[in-house]
Amino acid sequence: MHKKTVRDIEVGGKRVLVRVDFNVPLDKEGNVTDNTRIRAALPTIRYLMDKGAKVILASHLGRPKGTFNEKYSLKPVARRLEELLGKKVALAEEAVGEIPRRAVEQLGEGEVLLLENVRFYPEEEKNDEKFARALADLADIFVNDAFGAAHRAHASTEGVARTIPGVAGFLMEKEIEMLGRALTSPARPFVAIIGGAKVSDKIGVIGNLLSKVDTLIIGGGMANTFLSARGYNMGKSLVEGDKTELARELMEKASQGGVELLLPVDLVVSMAADPGAERKSVPVEEVPPDWMALDIGPESARLFGEAVGKAKTVIWNGPMGVFEMEPFAAGTFSVARALAESGAVTIVGGGDSAAAVEKAGVAGRITHISTGGGASLEFLEGKVLPGVAALSEK
Ligand code: ADP
Ligand code: MG
Repeated sequence: MHKKTVRDIEVGGKRVLVRVDFNVPLDKEGNVTDNTRIRAALPTIRYLMDKGAKVILASHLGRPKGTFNEKYSLKPVARRLEELLGKKVALAEEAVGEIPRRAVEQLGEGEVLLLENVRFYPEEEKNDEKFARALADLADIFVNDAFGAAHRAHASTEGVARTIPGVAGFLMEKEIEMLGRALTSPARPFVAIIGGAKVSDKIGVIGNLLSKVDTLIIGGGMANTFLSARGYNMGKSLVEGDKTELARELMEKASQGGVELLLPVDLVVSMAADPGAERKSVPVEEVPPDWMALDIGPESARLFGEAVGKAKTVIWNGPMGVFEMEPFAAGTFSVARALAESGAVTIVGGGDSAAAVEKAGVAGRITHISTGGGASLEFLEGKVLPGVAALSEK
């Protein structure tokens, strides 16, 4: 990686501001229901503690829209982090100003302070220069370990790095290396599987990957638009009528570039997106007028699995069906298992895809599951992430 990391700088005795992604789900009582994101930041935090840094953590949580809201307080996160570290974590009730300044003064080497939600301030999302400087004033060095927020140019992800030097944390480094290597020097055959609800969400990703992959597999709701562009009647399926022309162009681009494009050959159709509704598998040319496609069929799953089996690199973004409902999850789980069983470097990006791999019980057998939904998508689109661009070059 061409960006500096925590390994490249001296941190002992320094005040280090670490932007982490502690945007975790909470239940009604305010308990953290999934601590994956907190655990993902531990290697960087522990490294800095071990090196004797004064660790100041900053994060957002939810969308409080620029005002204090108890519901989005990082208090429960501080408690959970304390449990995971086995060490006290102080919480500063303000992210900037006198309160954190004093808390930092009292912070010893190897100790951890968590700043309250940076999105309690409207200046955060506006990337306000003064607010960014106020954050930067708390520290000597900035470490960005929040890959999941790196696609946003906010004060705590981008602005601070203009005042104090910024380097990448271990999670950030791993994300950039895994995703970056797949895009720039993938072991071949390189297969991308794109799914999810809509073509419009993934135009950029498909466009960018088309010039890099050997095989592009399209499934999920967006496959309907491609199938419709090929002239199939999709019944009541989700089809983006205004995107069929684009789908045609993408298919044309694939064939000109010598990219193998795989679409579903059969589908699981139902009268309604309802687990109780009647359903059946049909070939793509036989979707009944009143039915809708909610998953890929077994023959498609077999075909897609075969392509994955031959691959050396696989990128997967977007479920193959409405996997949240058990009757329409088979296609998605089948692809998840194919990734787990393949000898390829396998990378999963996207919030729902990561959840699907987890639900399929194969998360431990995937090479890299990106922690950044929107960020990984923008990275795969070939965009420069502002939070990464702001970090110091090696
Ligand atoms: P990711 O978060 O991994 O990037 P997306 O958000 O793009 O994935 O897509 C996930 C959503 O797509 C899921 O909620 C799923 O129910 C929906 N989906 C998948 N297939 C279909 C389909 N055939 N019809 C309607 N929705 C679908
Ligand atoms: Mg999603």
